[in-house]
Amino acid sequence: MRPTGKLHIGHLVGALESWVALQGSYQNYHLIADYHALTTNLETSHLRENTIEMLIDWIAAGIDPARSPVFRQSQVKEHTELHLIFSMLITTARLERNPTLKNQVRDLHIENVVYGHLGYPVLQAADILLYKGELVPVGEDQVPHVEITREIARRFNATYATVFPEPEPKLTAFARLPGLDGGAKMSKSLGNTILLSDPPEEIQRRMRGAVTDPQKIRRGDPGRPDICLVFTYHKKFNPAEVDDIREGCESGRLGCVDCKRRCAERIAQYLAPMREKRSYYESHPPEVEEILADGERRARTVAEATMAEVHDAMHLG
Ligand code: AMP
Repeated sequence: MRPTGKLHIGHLVGALESWVALQGSYQNYHLIADYHALTTNLETSHLRENTIEMLIDWIAAGIDPARSPVFRQSQVKEHTELHLIFSMLITTARLERNPTLKNQVRDLHIENVVYGHLGYPVLQAADILLYKGELVPVGEDQVPHVEITREIARRFNATYATVFPEPEPKLTAFARLPGLDGGAKMSKSLGNTILLSDPPEEIQRRMRGAVTDPQKIRRGDPGRPDICLVFTYHKKFNPAEVDDIREGCESGRLGCVDCKRRCAERIAQYLAPMREKRSYYESHPPEVEEILADGERRARTVAEATMAEVHDAMHLG
């Protein structure tokens, strides 16, 4: 994940929960993509603070750093080395066809695509393959990048020696959570989020502004839950009441105001244990720093070993 500060519920349901679940059966590595963050913001004065905020959200959501190293891309120099080698193994035409880049350019109104935008999936391939990642638990927007990673791994293995696995993406049932504005994707840059750290009253406030079925104007009007983003949130955060909400919406018995209030309550309940854990780490900054330093030491050991294999395979050094 890029360190863009506090995380939202899209990050949670699209990726973070999957990371937590996989911890029991896989050796996980959790990368803070601080170089990648430069593609959305060249201004770096908040990068450190954003890194810590994100890391606290990870831990609050259940990432166990003793089991799963957490580390910054910039602090393990092998990422940039492998990125350079990989940049020789993929054509610019292939990178120009990357649909994630096209969507970013459109959504974020990027006027000047820089070399770093084009090379984003190449650096990501290095991020994944340095740890010989087999499974990449990401949201839907990242799937094309995992495909590029597979192509690069294949090309490297065919050209030099079999060093890398071909990783698979792993999607959750909510691989693209819609935003409160009805937009296709919840995203910080679109300002349509609920944050993991939002207190209950803030969740209620944000939810009141959520866009619902435009045909349901007042209570009594029948609604269409399947096109309503609030219903999508109910499915995730309020599964026990989903049938009742659907019936109430379709019959007109349930108005949008009540529906949103119930949804916000459930989201707040779901996030409550995370908020509690978060407040502990917010007041213990040295522990967070130590978690990061430890993760970076462990990541470096693995990354150095992979780079030694790469150098061998390529007769470098
Ligand atoms: P990013 O902030 O773009 O680095 O995203 C970090 C991870 O969260 C990626 O795996 C994304 O695919 C995932 N993600 C971000 N926003 C959403 C969303 N609205 N729904 C599902 N997954 C998301």
